[in-house]
Amino acid sequence: MADNVGNTDARPDLELEEEFGGARPTIDEQELAEAEAGCGQTAVGIPMVGGRAVASSSLSSGTDRPAEASSKAPLGHPGGHPGAQRHGGARSMGFRPGGGEAAQAYEARTGIKAPRIIAWEITRSCNLSCAHCRAAAEFGAYPGELSLDEIKTTIDDIVTITNPIIILTGGEPLMRPDIWEVVDYAHEKGAMPVIGTNATLITDEIASAMAEHRIPRISVSVDFPTAEEHDAFRGEPGCFDATIEGIRIAKRHGIGVQINMTVTTLNHDKVEAVHDLAESLGVDAFHIFMLVPTGRGEDLLDKELPPEEYEKVLEWAYERQKTSPLHFKPTDAPHYYRIIRQKAKAEGKKVTREEYGLDAMTRGCLGGITFCFISHVGDIQPCGYFDMQLGNVKEQPFSAIWTESKVFNELRDYSLLKGKCGACEYKAVCGGCRARALSVTGDYLAEEPYCVYVPKSMQGECE
Ligand code: SF4
Ligand code: SF4
Repeated sequence: MADNVGNTDARPDLELEEEFGGARPTIDEQELAEAEAGCGQTAVGIPMVGGRAVASSSLSSGTDRPAEASSKAPLGHPGGHPGAQRHGGARSMGFRPGGGEAAQAYEARTGIKAPRIIAWEITRSCNLSCAHCRAAAEFGAYPGELSLDEIKTTIDDIVTITNPIIILTGGEPLMRPDIWEVVDYAHEKGAMPVIGTNATLITDEIASAMAEHRIPRISVSVDFPTAEEHDAFRGEPGCFDATIEGIRIAKRHGIGVQINMTVTTLNHDKVEAVHDLAESLGVDAFHIFMLVPTGRGEDLLDKELPPEEYEKVLEWAYERQKTSPLHFKPTDAPHYYRIIRQKAKAEGKKVTREEYGLDAMTRGCLGGITFCFISHVGDIQPCGYFDMQLGNVKEQPFSAIWTESKVFNELRDYSLLKGKCGACEYKAVCGGCRARALSVTGDYLAEEPYCVYVPKSMQGECE
């Protein structure tokens, strides 16, 4: 096995080494977002009644049906902000993803980090079909979806190398009738399931099932602060109200909620307003996603923020986190971790865990490093936006693909990065979005096309 030079803590640059002081970076479970691509709203098939989606009993059988409830029932940040997460998610339950014996043995044996977070599209069916959805999901069954047995077999293999957080996503994961069996099996094997949902299907019964099946947190997409704007973007009247009601119900049942906002030219001036809405709802975290135009999101290519505006949103996030009670996590925006360090330096601070919490310990792009995505048919990708299949769990064990894939191993070796990213002193903490590089240039090792920063070693060339 080649040197695993790509891991954040295996080959930190000097500045990082000084900052980490030998501490081992850990990854917050709500990297959740990394591939979870905010599947959201815009119903194409499910009837909406009074702004809420009709429950399972009104729908056809099989995979077209949402899951029925089973009868069984600080991370700080800039300025020393305590990151008063109202619900700490998996970590608050004492769970340390990728920290178990299997992961330690795997890392010692291979020199490769075990995955800590896996986003798993357990179905592509969705009651909605939002414009920017990575999955380009629609209502109805999709051929070739992994069966429950195939999911269990894959979990059996995954836990031989790690104990990850598994983000059950879609599509709309609550459309999968056997979701609670998947959840229970993941728990039984030592993984930690969480759910990414559009929340429109959440009833008291479903939220109660979430609590009974020990779901610590869900993530929900909200892109605009008002029903009028949100529904127009998602394409479904009543969708906003249904989502907000689903969030309220989940909170009432003690489920942690993270709101995800996909930022485009259409809503970049509404980030503060959506944040305030999230705060007023009493949710636990607010994650802004920078649009990666793949899947259905390709239609939004012209809605991607120009790099300068993109930078401004990330700077806003840095400043706002200082006073917000919500935990922030700009996602698919790896240069946020460069901005943290630039801002901290200007403020005379070090990016330490004490001062910045887990933001000091993680990295921008984790695709293939400690994170990956499994599609509804079992294809493995570095993340949901990275449009390349590196293997399929029906043909090869997950653990073998994670260990042997040439693409995964190249993503772990930062010395292979090209252009500005290759020359950048922040590449260990940022690395650029590899999916965006692939989408724009066809080369996943090319420089990130949406970064305004000029590395120090190249600044002379630009003057
Ligand atoms: S040049 Fe690349 S590695 Fe450097 S900050 Fe920009 S995106 Fe990140
Ligand atoms: S490639 Fe881009 S979208 Fe995928 S995990 Fe990395 S930063 Fe996120």
